[in-house]
Amino acid sequence: MAAISLMARGATGRPARSHLDATHPPGDRHAYSYALVLAAARPIGILTQRDMIGLVAAGHDLATVKVIDVMTAPVITLEQAAMTDVLTVWSVIQQHGIRHLPIVDECGLLVGMVTADELLQGGDLLELSVAVQLEGAASKHQSDRYDDTAFQSQQDLSDFVENAIVCLHWVAADGTIIWANQAELDLLGYEREEYIGHSIVEFHTDRAVIDDILDRLLHDRSVRDCEADLRCKDGSIRHVLIDSKASWHNGKFLRTRCFTRDITERKRAEEDLRRFNAALSHAMEGIAFLDAQGHYVWVNQAYADGIGYSPAAMVGMDWQRTVHPDDLHTVELAYGQMLDRGKVEVAARGMRHDGSIFYKQLVMVKADRGQQQTGHYCFMKDITAAKQTEADLIQSEQKFRAIFDSMLQFIGLLTPDGHFIDGNQAVFDAVAIDRAAIIGKPFWETPWWAHSPQLQARVKAAVATAAAGESVQFESEHFWADGTPAVVDFSLKPLFDDSGKVTMLLPEGRDITDRKRKEDILRNIALGVSAKTGEAFFEALVEYLTKALRVEYAFISELLPPTHDRVRTLAGYGHGTTIDRFEYALLNTPCQCTINCHFCVCAERLQQQFPDHALLKEIGAQSYMGVILRNSAGEPLGLICVLSCQDFSETQLMKEILNIFAARAAAEIERQRSEMELQFQKQDLARSNDELQQFAYVASHDLQEPLRMITSYLELLERRYKGQLDAKADTFIAYAVDGASRMQILINDLLNYSRVGRQDRDFEDVDCEQIFERALTNLHVAIATNKAIVSHTPLPRVHGNSSQITQLFQNLIGNAIKFRTQEPPQVEVSAKFTAGNWLFSVRDNGIGIENEYLERIFIIFQRLHGKTEYPGTGIGLAVCRKIIERHGGNLWVESQPDRGSTFYFTLSPSSR
Ligand code: ADP
Repeated sequence: MAAISLMARGATGRPARSHLDATHPPGDRHAYSYALVLAAARPIGILTQRDMIGLVAAGHDLATVKVIDVMTAPVITLEQAAMTDVLTVWSVIQQHGIRHLPIVDECGLLVGMVTADELLQGGDLLELSVAVQLEGAASKHQSDRYDDTAFQSQQDLSDFVENAIVCLHWVAADGTIIWANQAELDLLGYEREEYIGHSIVEFHTDRAVIDDILDRLLHDRSVRDCEADLRCKDGSIRHVLIDSKASWHNGKFLRTRCFTRDITERKRAEEDLRRFNAALSHAMEGIAFLDAQGHYVWVNQAYADGIGYSPAAMVGMDWQRTVHPDDLHTVELAYGQMLDRGKVEVAARGMRHDGSIFYKQLVMVKADRGQQQTGHYCFMKDITAAKQTEADLIQSEQKFRAIFDSMLQFIGLLTPDGHFIDGNQAVFDAVAIDRAAIIGKPFWETPWWAHSPQLQARVKAAVATAAAGESVQFESEHFWADGTPAVVDFSLKPLFDDSGKVTMLLPEGRDITDRKRKEDILRNIALGVSAKTGEAFFEALVEYLTKALRVEYAFISELLPPTHDRVRTLAGYGHGTTIDRFEYALLNTPCQCTINCHFCVCAERLQQQFPDHALLKEIGAQSYMGVILRNSAGEPLGLICVLSCQDFSETQLMKEILNIFAARAAAEIERQRSEMELQFQKQDLARSNDELQQFAYVASHDLQEPLRMITSYLELLERRYKGQLDAKADTFIAYAVDGASRMQILINDLLNYSRVGRQDRDFEDVDCEQIFERALTNLHVAIATNKAIVSHTPLPRVHGNSSQITQLFQNLIGNAIKFRTQEPPQVEVSAKFTAGNWLFSVRDNGIGIENEYLERIFIIFQRLHGKTEYPGTGIGLAVCRKIIERHGGNLWVESQPDRGSTFYFTLSPSSR
């Protein structure tokens, strides 16, 4: 490229390299067809336009080809002394088939340059030779400036012109081609007669060019490097440069001699080169060429942009400035490989002009000429974004993998036809499989299922089901790498894509061995103890615990009040038999630790830890686990513990089981205690009830006798002395009589009340119709006095004590009449059978009861009115309730003030 630009710049161009020069006539600004390479003013090589064209045609990259590699060396030169005449020079040129001939002095130093073109354009020399050719030897004299003695023979000259490699033709003033040499005819492909004698216009594609040449010839006599397109015989177009010189005779334009230089190939090559350069320069990919020393010779825009320089600024720069220091070694290694293999690809971090870092992918291609490496091409792609994506991907993959592998359950991936793709670490650890060994294998053929042909068949069937889009789940039994049996909850799920197609299968396994075992233990113990309470429960529990937990001993103990430093066993079981209850002090025992810490485990060497504990030694206990028992308020009640003569192996499972049953045992102790307390209270209550009834009975019974005496003596006093003492005395005696009779009623009522409790449960079938009638008879005075109407629906037979039920009817109907309004009392007694019992009602139209008193009226001595308003003792309804309670029924009232009341009670139907 440097040589081309040098040639193009012509006379004023500066040498691109100190050792490269182009010689040229001074003042000539035209392009040159060669570049001469000098070393200490001696020509050492030459590079011509033809070479350039050759290089381009051979597909070389002119940007990187070095002149030194492609120049013609050594150079044919001619010593100045041998340059006696033009023809000598010409013959040298002809002889070597060259077009450029450096002229040197006797020391070999360059003194000048002769080119074939210049020689041929020597004009008049050739002019003369053509004249010879055209007009024969006779016309020789027409030339007055050349001595024909300069030619060795006319024939020589004629041959020279005819055989010159330069194309020549002559055109007459009217435009007719009057002669052309063979080279010209060959160029355009015409026979002599097809060209000579024809008008030049026929062969030019552009008439304007001919007119232009003519104009300039008339004006300047000569034209140089006039570009024109000539039509060949085969229809193709040749692009030529025409140099033309007009011959004048006596002021008359005679003819013009034209050199035609074919520049078609050059044009094409130049065009190719231009396109090629444009393509490289504008390529999206960064492209650079570096010399063998690693300096940038040429970089395109994209490459320079990537590094943050201008293309020009990068020329001459060392490659190391564009690579991150940490990656220099990597790139150097790759460079070495490139020298071996010709091409290498490497990723490295690049350094930009501003110091920033980016990731680049480099393709380095060696450039060489023969054995010699001339440098390398470097194609660069910025892969920072891709790298970042890749890094993100790796990170997320690592994250996923970490989670995947740290999962305790077994998770894998299968192809839809059940071939193993991948699995988490748990999959491989459990049965110690080598990851690589099972990838790609059918899942049912992996070591997971190897122990059971049935399971293999089941898994194979599961794969088919899951591949059809349905999930499968079952429990399977395995043996782990260390030989322990395990139960796995296995599932196989299909994964779908957007179109609903199954893309993968997801096998999952969860080790449920512990859960299964726990479930079994819990179920067994629960079944064994569920139906039991109290002591039986405790005894069953310790027995089942020893069996389920595979321990030798189990105890449930309760803390002994008040100091809580001793415990007593509620139940104990050891070596297949129930152990009798015993007490022991907590001090320096594992049980003390259990009470203090709520939980205590000693999975091995128990005796060493409690060396003073004789019992532990006696029973040979090696391990212990205890859980505290607490009541619902959180207070310690005791403990549950198990002991084994071996070390414990499943402490976690045992702990969970013990905790569950500790809660159950604590609840049982609490329940037992409150039951006992209730029992005490009940007994207490019954006793005090009895005492009270006894007292009430005795009191009311024994009071009757003296009261009767008081009453009869007061009546005697009244009868005998009424009207004999003063008026006041009469009133006092009347008060005393009244008080005594009220006391009589009260004591009677009280006696009645206490009798209800005392009477035996003397129950029989009772006809309520009769009872009702009896009650009315007892109430006939009140009915008559109050003009009461007492009606009833048919009344059933019931099971009960007839006198008490009579009392019940009498009390309720009596109240219904007593608590009347102005209206005459209307009472209705009815009964209906409901819910297996007879429901009686006694409805009245009396004063009614405020809502708030509906319960209170049934308590003994509770009255809502003064005795002057409505007489009574407040015992009647209490008696009624007591009677109903003793009959196992209910008694209640519904009422509103002024709207009457309805008393309800229930009695069992008669057995008949
Ligand atoms: P006594 O009738 O002797 O007052 P009871 O125990 O029979 O005692 O009744 C308690 C209270 O219940 C009565 O004082 C009265 O206030 C209220 N009572 C009872 N029966 C009726 C009724 N049928 N209508 C309105 N109030 C009643």
